[in-house]
Amino acid sequence: MTEHVTWITGASSGIGEALALACARRGHRLVLSARRKEALNRVKQACIAAGSSEESILVLPLDVTDDGAMPQAVSDVLAVFGRIDLLINNAGISQRSLCVDTELSVYRRIFDVDVIGQIALTRAVLPTLLKQASGHIAVTSSIAGKVGVPYRTGYCAAKHAVIGFYDALRAELASSGIKVSIILPGFVRTNISEAAVTGDGSQFGRTDHNIANGMDPHECAEIILRKLERGVPEFVVATGKEKHSVWLNRFFPGLIRRVVPKLGKP
Ligand code: NDP
Repeated sequence: MTEHVTWITGASSGIGEALALACARRGHRLVLSARRKEALNRVKQACIAAGSSEESILVLPLDVTDDGAMPQAVSDVLAVFGRIDLLINNAGISQRSLCVDTELSVYRRIFDVDVIGQIALTRAVLPTLLKQASGHIAVTSSIAGKVGVPYRTGYCAAKHAVIGFYDALRAELASSGIKVSIILPGFVRTNISEAAVTGDGSQFGRTDHNIANGMDPHECAEIILRKLERGVPEFVVATGKEKHSVWLNRFFPGLIRRVVPKLGKP
């Protein structure tokens, strides 16, 4: 994948930042997007330290809820690199609140970022990939996109929704030369719970024990890139017990239904 152009959203921290570094080590040209420009510039410097050249990295601040900004963002990428090979729709926010305590506006916010944001950027990039007759679109869903857990009704709904969207998109693109991959991480040690929204929309503001004890984001990113390089359509990335929950949910749903009510408490 050397010299390939990889566009990562949510590149300012966590899994996205680790993906950027792993891509830099592989020689990808990189587009780094998220809302915080200073954090993206910090990631850019880390990529340069990992082997990238200054001109092989474009810092492109983008709020994925701002679909009006996307045509210009795509034009900016094409003006600098001329093509897009891999789009990793990774930006996301999580939730830490019971349904009974959660305002409807919070559900809308989670869906705007975690579902509509991914769809909007994918739509904006798709004509370029179709013209190239090549490319790869990935999305970071979650094990929570397969198994519903307490305190995350909105997050689980959003992560289930993106799986439906990208499954259908993969079917539409079957003979186009464009691959679609769905990433299902388990607990990964990032800012995800710190930045998660609570029932009134305020930030949860701390790292809960599942995330604190989660997988190293760099290990996670390495596994993700290896799977993407092989074009794997859907895969779990996890080191903890949660890695078994996707197949258990499929083959022993009664067992999972007994276990999950005890999980997820922040
Ligand atoms: P982080 O909170 O560390 O990273 C989230 C990233 O998303 C940040 O770069 C943030 O940047 C960006 N982001 C948030 N809102 C927006 C927005 N409106 N527009 C653009 N970028 C945005 O968490 P993770 O690295 O863990 O999360 C990455 C992905 O992995 C998410 O989709 C998450 O749901 C998923 N995931 C994470 C798991 C975990 O255990 N950590 C498990 C399963 C899935 P900024 O604030 O600068 O905009």
